[in-house]
Amino acid sequence: MDDFIYLDNAATTPLAPEAAEAMAACQATIFGNPSSSHSLGVEAAAALEKSRRKLASILVCNPDELVFTSSGTEADNLALFGAAYASRRKSFVISAVEHPAVLETADELVQRGFEVRRAPVDSRGVVLVDELVELVDEDTFLVSVMYANNEVGTVQPVKRLARAVKKKNPEALFHCDAVQAFTREPISLADGALDLLSLSAHKLHGPRGAGALYVKKGTKLRPLICGGGQEKGLRSGTENVVAIAGFAAAAELAHRAREADNARIRKCMATLGRIVTDNLDGVIINGHPEDGLAEILSLGTAGLKSQNLLHFLEDEGVIVSAGSACHSTRTKRSHVIEAMGVSPDYAVIRISASRYTTMEEAEEAGHIIVAVVNKLRR
Ligand code: PLP
Repeated sequence: MDDFIYLDNAATTPLAPEAAEAMAACQATIFGNPSSSHSLGVEAAAALEKSRRKLASILVCNPDELVFTSSGTEADNLALFGAAYASRRKSFVISAVEHPAVLETADELVQRGFEVRRAPVDSRGVVLVDELVELVDEDTFLVSVMYANNEVGTVQPVKRLARAVKKKNPEALFHCDAVQAFTREPISLADGALDLLSLSAHKLHGPRGAGALYVKKGTKLRPLICGGGQEKGLRSGTENVVAIAGFAAAAELAHRAREADNARIRKCMATLGRIVTDNLDGVIINGHPEDGLAEILSLGTAGLKSQNLLHFLEDEGVIVSAGSACHSTRTKRSHVIEAMGVSPDYAVIRISASRYTTMEEAEEAGHIIVAVVNKLRR
């Protein structure tokens, strides 16, 4: 990573050496299928359960309430489809700023005869409690609001939203996509306010291809994948024991380092932001000024195109993205930026740091952004 400055950590993070070590040890010694009844299987099942217990202890939930999946996307799909098909009700509510893993799943449910209602956000990207509750009625089977937004970092008042939803319709489930927030925000499931919560390993220095869905005890879901009945029948298929060991090791480390990491990253991003805003006219910072993830800085620059800016920055060794990785190849404006009412005159780029971003990198990236924007504006 010496010849470029990687600031696209909201897309994916480099693997933590501690997670790589845990995976290597598991790969080298744990060979069996965790569903086999012989000793090798029992050993693999024990390794899997150890990982499950580590994650459950961070979330303050019961290990039995965690279902391993292949990704955050699969966890979101299981939550939405699973709840839809387990219910006789037809209507559900999502926020306007959800990740495509929720948005596209919602669109597919609409194709299959369900009805979606979309809760708006304010100019900082915050879902408004009263406006969301207004959309809930006795036909609502689920409400889905993310913990923190992957494009602008805004943290949502999910517990407050969940309580208000339950007050209006105690039968409605509350799902939260916590893929960007897990280990960055102090998430505790002990109060039972959330029914379903999606996680992904590769956003917290774990491996790509491992995720999990928290399913509160007693929550009715139908599986997406049927077969051998693994994961309490909710997700058949032999578990990826090695990747899950990496997930648990990375999450433990990130959880322990949360406050120190957040404080340091916040300083780096504040410095980068200051260099840009002090030296350029026509720039805005999108998101919530206080309630935002430390590592995401969404920058709007007037009079440019995001794709141009990205490519020129990459030529100068700075890797960032336009909105989320999922629509980095599309030229369409981000639905998040649009829902927040940001003027289309601004080209938006997402700059996202991690535990491994240094202050020197943040300062250098800030100066390179200033130089590239000035060059493109000439
Ligand atoms: N939800 C959010 C908020 C995300 O940021 C992402 C990834 O960008 C996902 C879901 C999908 O996770 P995965 O890449 O593990 O499928």
